[in-house]
Amino acid sequence: MSDLDELYQEVIFDHSKKPRNCRKLEHPTCDAGGHNPLCGDHVHIYLDLDGETIKDVSFEGKGCAISTASASMMTGLLKGKTRDEAQKLIDGFIALVTDEKATAGDELGKLKVFSGVRKFPVRVKCASLAWRTAEAALKREAKEISTE
Ligand code: ZN
Repeated sequence: MSDLDELYQEVIFDHSKKPRNCRKLEHPTCDAGGHNPLCGDHVHIYLDLDGETIKDVSFEGKGCAISTASASMMTGLLKGKTRDEAQKLIDGFIALVTDEKATAGDELGKLKVFSGVRKFPVRVKCASLAWRTAEAALKREAKEISTE
């Protein structure tokens, strides 16, 4: 096994057994649900924005180790970021897991290990579910603000 493979196993195992930020926010400014029918993963993302800054972010979900670990690590990364920074991280992660040519951005930290799922199309959906759902939640919030 390569170092990246070993790190991948370790990180996924750790976060799937002890997911971080796995709870419901009582008063989220925006939230969204996501479903990956190919694997049966469900995730719900809660965001609490203070202006443009993500003050708190959490998730609830039921799914495989990869979807849980990805959601757990994503919430840790997005907390404290601005909406624009969050969108860049989301784009960077989606590119990382889908594009062979993508170079892992250092801003993703340990999430770089998810580049290993590129070879497995079903796993790509597991890994990206939380990120796509967070993106949907962020966009919904944007829509609400623009109508005020
Ligand atoms: Zn899955």
